[in-house]
Amino acid sequence: LKEVGKIYKSGSRSLTVLQDINFSVNPGSTLAIVGPSGSGKTTLLGLCAGLDRSSSGTVELHGTRLNDLNEDQLASARNQYIGFIFQNFQLLPTLTALENVMVPLELRGEKNIKSRALDLLDKVGLAERGHHYPTQLSGGEQQRVSLARAFSNNPAILFADEPTGNLDAETSEKVVKLLFDLNKEAGTTLVLVTHDLELAAKTQRIIRIKGGRIVSDQHT
Ligand code: ATP
Repeated sequence: LKEVGKIYKSGSRSLTVLQDINFSVNPGSTLAIVGPSGSGKTTLLGLCAGLDRSSSGTVELHGTRLNDLNEDQLASARNQYIGFIFQNFQLLPTLTALENVMVPLELRGEKNIKSRALDLLDKVGLAERGHHYPTQLSGGEQQRVSLARAFSNNPAILFADEPTGNLDAETSEKVVKLLFDLNKEAGTTLVLVTHDLELAAKTQRIIRIKGGRIVSDQHT
């Protein structure tokens, strides 16, 4: 990111949420973004992942300037090399766990999507729950389905917003292991937003933001 800023506008009001953001992330590395509530962490993650656009500056991912892409190209970039785990899971409520994991595979036009989706559910320990709808799953189980979905396109970079936010200690440990295993085994770059400083300390680098600005950038 170079000189990135984000201003939210509604009517005549505008709110500057991010300013002067500069950093780059080495492929295959792990990074945590921490900071107080409302400091701009989720906004920053969304800009990095091409879910939203910066108001100023440039965001480059995998050699492509996201600012230069139209909506279709942006969606295609997300499908090709980005995985995203949302704070509130964002599973599609009308689809089963299995179907939720199948969606990105279907979008990529892949073959054998059902058996691949089942393998992914198995990986997160939910092979038996494929036919359940999100409302029939606990928060931790929904989070693991969202992990399986994020893993499905073998992303070069995985963004996770509060991946352990609402989970009990045991489930949280499982989710963290899945994330770091993916980093170790597949070399997936991991960028986390978290309030959990113990989790942040497991990453190689911690960027702290406050009031929309980077206030420290430390290797752990
Ligand atoms: P938390 O730790 O509580 O999740 P955060 O650091 O992730 O917070 P953001 O969600 O990035 O913070 O929000 C930063 C600021 O931007 C907040 O003041 C929030 O109210 C504001 N904001 C976020 N999204 C929008 C939006 N779509 N429109 C207007 N303001 C927004």
